[in-house]
Amino acid sequence: AVRIRGVRKSFGRLEVLRGINLEVWPGEVVCLIGPSGSGKSTLLRCVNHLEKVDGGRIEVDGELVGYRRKGDKVYELKDREICRKREQIGMVFQQFNLFPHMTVLGNVVEAPVRLGKMRQREAEAAGRELLARVGLAEKESAYPRQLSGGQQQRVAIARALAMRPRLMLFDEPTSALDPELVGDVLAVMGDLARDGMTMIVVTHEMGFAREVADRVVFMDQGRLVEQGHPSEILERPSHERTQAFLRRVL
Ligand code: ATP
Ligand code: MG
Repeated sequence: AVRIRGVRKSFGRLEVLRGINLEVWPGEVVCLIGPSGSGKSTLLRCVNHLEKVDGGRIEVDGELVGYRRKGDKVYELKDREICRKREQIGMVFQQFNLFPHMTVLGNVVEAPVRLGKMRQREAEAAGRELLARVGLAEKESAYPRQLSGGQQQRVAIARALAMRPRLMLFDEPTSALDPELVGDVLAVMGDLARDGMTMIVVTHEMGFAREVADRVVFMDQGRLVEQGHPSEILERPSHERTQAFLRRVL
């Protein structure tokens, strides 16, 4: 589970997160929606400590993100320790960021092998299973440039899953894709959700939010404005700002 408590974050004078409280339960899928600049990406980046919070705290499965408690004091973790914790959280971005000089299977096994989590053979077997799961079993020897954007994004998902994360963060994973490629990626994410993965998904795909999310959270100007069941938020939002946003995107 993820527990976000009173999280604040500024860039210079710009307050990007103004006291965010959010809890995500094990196996829950939360879709984060909101206008550009509302702080969605920043919040995700705080969850795996790619950004440091200025105030408040974030816990994943009861452990502070980026910090360690000792008695009643809190210390920042060393880079090495932060990396180790980050391994437990999978992140998929708009840009797929695959290693261009590695094959598809090479991309998927890279992290578990490099980090000593698995031996090469074992990682390859697990990687092939993951590629089958995202519908790309036949592509294991291809290079990223030989794949469509949607296929590359599915490799990126398999690569994140190879670390056996307890939580998956998605930041607009389909925004850079041609429309006809979006469906395959959303289908993979839907399967993952049904398999019980805990997921926070920033998306403009309201169909996905309606069908897959357990909860939709609307953010605006660094605040969490309202949240609830998708049918509630997407069809009967109570706040004017949510209504205005949905009029623009639906
Ligand atoms: P979008 O829908 O466009 O992706 P978002 O909700 O993800 O928007 P963020 O990327 O979290 O928004 O950005 C929130 C605000 O913080 C924006 O005004 C952005 O310009 C600013 N910001 C984000 N990252 C930085 C940074 N590293 N330095 C300075 N300002 C930043
Ligand atoms: Mg963003």
